[in-house]
Amino acid sequence: MKRLFYNGKIASLDSNNTFYEAIGIKDSKIIFLGLDTEAQATKSEYDERIDLHGKTVVPGFNDSHIHLLNTGYAMTMLNLDPFNSIENIIDGTLAFIKTHAFSSEMWLLGRGWNQDKLKEKRYPTRADLDRISHTIPIIFTRACGHIAVCNTVALNTIGMNSLDTHDENINTDKGLFQEDALNALYAAVPSPSKDEIKDMILKASNALLKQGVTSVQSDDLCCMPDRDYEKVLQAYHELNHEKKLPVRVYQQCLFFEESDFEAFAKKHYRTGQGDAFFKIGPVKLLLDGSLGARTALLREPYSDDLLNSGIACFEQNELNRLIQRTQHYGFQVAAHCIGDKAMDMFVEALKNVPSFNKEADHRHGIVHAQVMTPDIIRSMSDLHLLAYIQPIFLDYDLHIVDNRLSHRANNAYAFKTMLESNIKLCFGTDAPVVDYNPFENIYTAVVRKDLNNQPETPYLITECLTVNEALKAYTLNGAYSAFEELYKGTLELGKLADFVIIDQDIFSIDPIEIKNISILMTVLDGQIAYEQI
Ligand SMILES: [Zn+2]
Repeated sequence: MKRLFYNGKIASLDSNNTFYEAIGIKDSKIIFLGLDTEAQATKSEYDERIDLHGKTVVPGFNDSHIHLLNTGYAMTMLNLDPFNSIENIIDGTLAFIKTHAFSSEMWLLGRGWNQDKLKEKRYPTRADLDRISHTIPIIFTRACGHIAVCNTVALNTIGMNSLDTHDENINTDKGLFQEDALNALYAAVPSPSKDEIKDMILKASNALLKQGVTSVQSDDLCCMPDRDYEKVLQAYHELNHEKKLPVRVYQQCLFFEESDFEAFAKKHYRTGQGDAFFKIGPVKLLLDGSLGARTALLREPYSDDLLNSGIACFEQNELNRLIQRTQHYGFQVAAHCIGDKAMDMFVEALKNVPSFNKEADHRHGIVHAQVMTPDIIRSMSDLHLLAYIQPIFLDYDLHIVDNRLSHRANNAYAFKTMLESNIKLCFGTDAPVVDYNPFENIYTAVVRKDLNNQPETPYLITECLTVNEALKAYTLNGAYSAFEELYKGTLELGKLADFVIIDQDIFSIDPIEIKNISILMTVLDGQIAYEQI
């Protein structure tokens, strides 16, 4: 099958930032790029010719850190994001229960609350959720995924006695669980079957195609309550084998215990195994929590909670050993670090590996990299670490960053400084933590305001990126972080035909409008995967 798209503004994002008018594809690959007049000569050889009517084309987006399966799982849960008070959550959930046939064996799972967006400015509690039901076990997870609250039925189902009451991450009075302790809570929830998992992957992937996302780097293996990563891998392999996987997936393999990672490695799983639609990616490590929940690990205490410096998921010596094991097996590593102290720990652990060669093509990276300092930027640059960042986090974080960090906010979310220090920026959304819309993400990186165009003066205006820099971080650099830049990420001859047609010219419109851009068509692997009707 040969298709020609002509009369467009095609941004190749190649090293010269070349624009073309026409792009020709054969099966999954790009075979022609040039002017319309040049395309004219071979026009008749194409099976289909599509007039772009002057619209802009960019490479398909690569969401470099997302939870695809969890995004699909969240689609099966009650969405708590629209509720602006705890009272509304209670009323809304009662209405939800009335319209859904709930039995006492079923769990009611909700996701998306954030105390800063609630009128009461506090976490919901067990007592609040008890007002919803004394028979249905309920768990409501915070938007960040690092904290959850449950009702008394849920606690009783888990078995109060089985809980470690000295664990500082569990507060049974309030029904609150955070970080590692969440495992004890979720373990009681019935796990979806492999077929249900396949459905969730399909639902989330198809939603992403509508937003122009053609590749994801997704952290899914242990996200189901039973943490059965073989079941998740099997679901992916079956979808891929059936040629039904809608987007390309590079799996960021998160493990909570060293023993789980060892077992995985002993089964000979390695970074890079797979094909153009599904690959094993890096080992993902979780070093701390989130800024909103004050669980990100800081060098100095939170400015609005002086006795708290966040939560370390590992002791330094534990982390050193684990990183050493990942390097023993030759894995790429992507470490979730939001706080400066967490980044310190990761850098120290890497340097501690005797065989670590910073000049080797390791492509290790830090996911989030938010509470930045000049010395950490120097270390990242020196060790050639990637920065997997989520500019859209600023929509919420720019309202809390001064309270949480005071003067440290002046170095946080230092996108331009990182870029100018030769750190490769790879954009992602961390969905379902926030929405997966790439244009809201690019908008935030370019204007550094929230989605309501506030504040008047951008947050750290010198850290604004250009549209071109933001697009490359969402395409080429994403491909680079998965060792795939030679065959995708830009529109060049011989590369994969993964691209999107958008309804506005992102290069010339007022940057304030970028967040409103929508996708007219998504082409993936040479096929029209989504078309706006
Ligand atoms: Zn994440």
